[in-house]
Amino acid sequence: MSNIGHNEYIVSKFGGTSVANAKQIAKVTEIVKSNPKRKFIIVSAPGKDKNDKEKITDHLFNIATAGAHFKNLKKDISSDESYTAVLEKFKRLIEKLEIEGEDILSDLSEDLKKNLSDAKKTAFYASRGEHYNAKIISRHFIKQGINAELVLPEDIKFLVTDDFLNAKVIPAAYKNLAKLADKNSISVIPGYYGVTDTGDIAVFSRGGSDLTGGEIAYAVNASLYENWTDIDGVFQVDPRIISDCNIIPRLTYKEIRLLSSKGFNVFHFDAMVNCRKRHIPINIRNTNNPSAVGTMIVAERIPEETVVGIARQDNIAYLYLEKDGAGETVGFVSSLLKIMQDFGIETYHYPTDKDDISVIFNQSDLKGFENDLKDTIIEKLHPDKLEFNYNITFLSPVGIGMKNCPGIIAAASAALKKKNINIEIIDQGPSQYSFHFGIQNYHADIALKALYDALCKK
Ligand code: ASP
Repeated sequence: MSNIGHNEYIVSKFGGTSVANAKQIAKVTEIVKSNPKRKFIIVSAPGKDKNDKEKITDHLFNIATAGAHFKNLKKDISSDESYTAVLEKFKRLIEKLEIEGEDILSDLSEDLKKNLSDAKKTAFYASRGEHYNAKIISRHFIKQGINAELVLPEDIKFLVTDDFLNAKVIPAAYKNLAKLADKNSISVIPGYYGVTDTGDIAVFSRGGSDLTGGEIAYAVNASLYENWTDIDGVFQVDPRIISDCNIIPRLTYKEIRLLSSKGFNVFHFDAMVNCRKRHIPINIRNTNNPSAVGTMIVAERIPEETVVGIARQDNIAYLYLEKDGAGETVGFVSSLLKIMQDFGIETYHYPTDKDDISVIFNQSDLKGFENDLKDTIIEKLHPDKLEFNYNITFLSPVGIGMKNCPGIIAAASAALKKKNINIEIIDQGPSQYSFHFGIQNYHADIALKALYDALCKK
């Protein structure tokens, strides 16, 4: 599908911190007023502010699971405490925004007593944060003179599968969502949930309001999908490690995929899939600093820089196997991967040579299985040597400008040599848009800084 014929509308999604309290909602109101093209406003549940210990959505999970949600996270918050926290939060919002809200509070309290079973109950309860926040925000918008209308997923038939806590959009939903384009008013839509064909509420995975925004942008063929959050955009590297790094102004969909790792989790990646099909740009922006232009995620760009950012993944392990002729035996690699698959271990990067192979995976996936996995590999493949190596960090420079550009890997490895850091694993992504260095975790911060200085600093 091409980008021709986008409609002028902008879809704007505001995350939890953007709608955490009346002060934040006032900022959202100004943003919505400042551009009449902003016709579809997707809101998250209220996030945490200084008065709150936890996010509303977590409290709602806790109520639905009779306290098990926080117990699993080793937090001592009962379901009664969560119930009080949710009601107090919405009460505070209503009072501070000075809107009519008695009905909202009584409906909310009714909903949180609704008798449903298992996942259906958790999904319904979890969706209430977005549901009632959208009600409150639409009333506030109207009070502020905005021609707003509350649009609920259950009313527009935003159809999803009945995987209640990890719902997927059903294709029939798009035709229903597309009808939103006919409305003259500004639609205020709760994110994160949809409705099954039997009328039950089901939620997306956590952070799923991004997905709601992306799907609506796709369905109405918007010209832009804005994702408003609390940072100025996507940083070049994890800003907790390198505090003076910059925001990346433009990125392709492919680059943001490759950057997805620690420090880059600003956006739910499923939300991008359909925007990409219609070449709808996604703009990550900061509600607390609306004058910053943010990061624009686009289908194509002319690369001004070779490396746009560096992804980092910690807690990586790899299996090293040696066996004469392994790399030249048809089916050997696939037999090894099949064993790993049977243990439910997701694997990536497979450097091989004539007589040896490594397989890389997340360390946590191996928990409890290590000996069984070893025994199975020995029994089935008779390796000459088999070992597991832990505590590896992968550093992955990313940028479409790296394709056919000689010397980037040389510059990167020279920077690590200067710091006396050994590279244990090297893999260049087949697109040449990224490459991956596996190093010991205790070197990771210094290595990241060295690569950043060598590849990203102007
Ligand atoms: N409120 C939901 C969550 O905390 C969804 C979202 O905010 O996107 O995961």
